[in-house]
Amino acid sequence: MSFRATVLTLYPEMFPGHLGVSLAGRALERGDAQIEPVNIRDFATDKHRSVDDTPAGGGAGMVLKPDVLAAAIDAVSLEGDTRPRLLMSPRGRPLTQQRVRELAEGPGAVIVCGRFEGVDQRLIEARELEEISIGDYVLSGGEPAALILLDAVIRVLPGVMGNASSGTHESFETGMLEHPHYTRPQVFEDREIPAVLTSGNHKAIDEWRQAQSLELTRKRRPDLLDPEA
Ligand code: SAH
Repeated sequence: MSFRATVLTLYPEMFPGHLGVSLAGRALERGDAQIEPVNIRDFATDKHRSVDDTPAGGGAGMVLKPDVLAAAIDAVSLEGDTRPRLLMSPRGRPLTQQRVRELAEGPGAVIVCGRFEGVDQRLIEARELEEISIGDYVLSGGEPAALILLDAVIRVLPGVMGNASSGTHESFETGMLEHPHYTRPQVFEDREIPAVLTSGNHKAIDEWRQAQSLELTRKRRPDLLDPEA
């Protein structure tokens, strides 16, 4: 089964973007994943093909019109389409590796990319959009956020990563940050590779990596160890 993403955007030319190269590029070529950008403007009905309007209550910026977006969503998400409908949004729940895994196990997603001040609240409620944020900062549009979400999803699809086990030890998969990595040369600018890693003692190596992982997580992301803190 192929993961199918339909992306509603005012800038379809931004897709597949960086996902056209390397691992994701090959997954798209093989058809393991599909990305279909759809231009929201194609669903505008007035003669100026407008997609946005001034905010009710006044203030700066423009808001994406609910009627135009609803028509676009309804056109790509027909009855029986079980794909989750996502809205990239700084107000959304922060994206996690767990949500990425869940999405990758499903049939795909319909992803709405906001622009301007965002989208009309009634549209979010009426089409039951799941708001997803990629971090506590504001982008100028949802497209880079959608590309990041799709990057994370495509790399965990079956068969996409060369070494099947290389995904499971990574940061967040274990609830912790990953240990540091080293490779040759043995000495780089007077710095040596930690001796344990070249000892050949696999048990000691595993223990060292786990200890490093725990230490890093404690220092940098204590919230991962104790979500209540
Ligand atoms: N007025 C909004 C910001 C709008 S930014 C606010 O203050 O919350 C324009 C669009 O960029 C948003 O609709 C959203 O689709 C996208 N976007 C911006 N930052 C994002 C983030 N951190 N995560 C996901 N999408 C984001």
